[in-house]
Amino acid sequence: RTPVIAIDGPAAAGKTTVSKAISDKLGIGYVESGRTYRLVAYHAIREHVPLTDEHALTALCHRMLSSSPIALYQTDAATARALRSPSVTRAVSVVAKLPGIRTAITDLTRKIVEHIGPAIVEGRDIGTAVFPNATTKIFLSATAEVRAKRRNRQEPDRGYAEILADINRRDELDRDRQHSPMTPAPDATQIDTTGLTVDEVISKVEAQCRL
Ligand code: C5P
Repeated sequence: RTPVIAIDGPAAAGKTTVSKAISDKLGIGYVESGRTYRLVAYHAIREHVPLTDEHALTALCHRMLSSSPIALYQTDAATARALRSPSVTRAVSVVAKLPGIRTAITDLTRKIVEHIGPAIVEGRDIGTAVFPNATTKIFLSATAEVRAKRRNRQEPDRGYAEILADINRRDELDRDRQHSPMTPAPDATQIDTTGLTVDEVISKVEAQCRL
């Protein structure tokens, strides 16, 4: 079985920054599962698929994934930017609630890891649903206000209040959905990063990592 480090947690908890740093330090792969959910939302918006049409969204997701799943990860810079745009960010948690989409993306994430080998995988349900046998499981958290402040520093064009509202809305949808809701795995190490610097979080996570 391929060794996996699972990093889960709510929006803007620092998962991406930490995961990239650890993947560099340990020389292992890095998989951002949120990106695939964002890609489905992005295509749904472009193709005018209503976010209420579960059947059409699931069909769109299957079409995307059946064409060239690994290539989905090699998007150009403009698409990469669009994936973080407010419209995609607003739509993504609605799309991510749908069981058909979760199953398809869970399969894809497992296939990607099979393909690239040992990896750090970040998301919401990696340690619970995608890789329940992960060698290391971390659940990062911080208060919503601190997460919004950090995100606001990265995205000064969006106001703090808008970012905070988005984070709270997304967390609620991610936590309260029926299928693989965001929740720490029973065997995850939970790290509250509220008062910590990025480097402190990286060291704490690194100290837990077993491959
Ligand atoms: O990590 P990121 O903020 O880019 O994720 C975007 C959205 O994708 C999350 O708010 C969540 O709705 C969904 N997601 C998920 N399960 C994952 C990763 C992301 O439901 N494993």
